[in-house]
Amino acid sequence: MYLHPEMETLTRPEIEKLQLERLQKTVRHCMNSPFYKKRFEDNHLKPEDIRSLNDLRKIPFTTKQDLRDTYPFGMAAVPLEKAVRLHSSSGTTGNPTVILHTQKDLDEWANAVARCLYMVGLRPGDIFQNSSGYGMFTGGLGFQYGAERMGMLTVPAAAGNTKRQLKFITDFGTTALHAIPSYAARLYEVMEEMGIDPRRDTKLKTLIIGAEPHSEEQRRRIEDMLGVKAYNSFGMSEMCGPGVAFECREQNGLHIWEDYYIVEIINPDTLEPVPDGEVGELVLTTINREAMPMLRYRTRDLTRILPGECPCGRHHKRLDRMKGRSDDMIILKGVNIFPIQIETVLLQFKELGSDYLITLETMESNDEMTIEVELSQLFTDDYARLQALTREITRQLKDEILVTPRVKLVPKGSLPKSEGKAVRVKDLRKTF
Ligand SMILES: [Zn+2]
Repeated sequence: MYLHPEMETLTRPEIEKLQLERLQKTVRHCMNSPFYKKRFEDNHLKPEDIRSLNDLRKIPFTTKQDLRDTYPFGMAAVPLEKAVRLHSSSGTTGNPTVILHTQKDLDEWANAVARCLYMVGLRPGDIFQNSSGYGMFTGGLGFQYGAERMGMLTVPAAAGNTKRQLKFITDFGTTALHAIPSYAARLYEVMEEMGIDPRRDTKLKTLIIGAEPHSEEQRRRIEDMLGVKAYNSFGMSEMCGPGVAFECREQNGLHIWEDYYIVEIINPDTLEPVPDGEVGELVLTTINREAMPMLRYRTRDLTRILPGECPCGRHHKRLDRMKGRSDDMIILKGVNIFPIQIETVLLQFKELGSDYLITLETMESNDEMTIEVELSQLFTDDYARLQALTREITRQLKDEILVTPRVKLVPKGSLPKSEGKAVRVKDLRKTF
């Protein structure tokens, strides 16, 4: 049941011993990086000062801005001729960021992804289809190499072209699919249009979903629609890509591979650590990387460490599903709201589909939130029923987010569809 039993079954003391060894090695290696060398000097810090895992806190955080400021190669800890791959994330604002990999980095990355896929029960003989974008987006090559490493026949279907995607699924007998959650829902819609019954006409049994925050309700819906088990995946290009943390078959949190990363959760305002179980910003230190090690990287992702033991026998800590990025948080009338909170409420209504759009706009100098949500196939034109439904949704949303949104029920298929990450929030507010 373990692909790497020597790492997956480490006890907590063994994990911490390994982490300290690898951290010390990483910090020494970081002195080859112009960025970290200067940062250590500026802070009167030496690699020998890191004597325990707690000493990690002496090291300043690394931020996305640091990556931008050192663009493209200023953070590298190996000469460029030792690097064999580069991934760049465009980002919507500012300079892009670059992550370099040596051949060893790529090998370790593939091993991590293979370990994740094995953990959810996939085996050689499974047929793995990847509907991620390929190219710079790490979900493409990351899953490709990991699935191949594990020994599966791997179909690089790439993003989009839903009908072709479905043809591959039926013709090749795809048993496992990697898709972002909104796209999994989209695939089901197109299956319905084409008269494909996923249980009868496909061999799909496992879905890997990630790269987009989604609620537990969304996962259960995907499982019901497609007749599969859906497992949550977490990764980010700064940490390689997919394979950072993954759910096991218990589906109760994502094990983060602590032989690769040291995990901290901090309060994003005070920058102090928060106790296990409390939500904060995820901070990661790579302890198994050559080309571009990263110390205390502030991911901007909000999550918490789930206390307690996992019945699967792995002692690697578990992260709760991502609540969203601190940048995704909506502040409306002084209240902090995450789109995922809204989704959780909406998807509890069987009358509603999975697509919704939150629009923020200024009306008569007040900021207002409008939520358009598609009805499911249970669409009714009974005006009184729709009105009662709208009222009930509004009431439950207000309970959850503490402001009263305007809810508009719209017919199925009327919201814009994207084949990439779904756009859930439009902010049209005037800023004065
Ligand atoms: Zn587990």
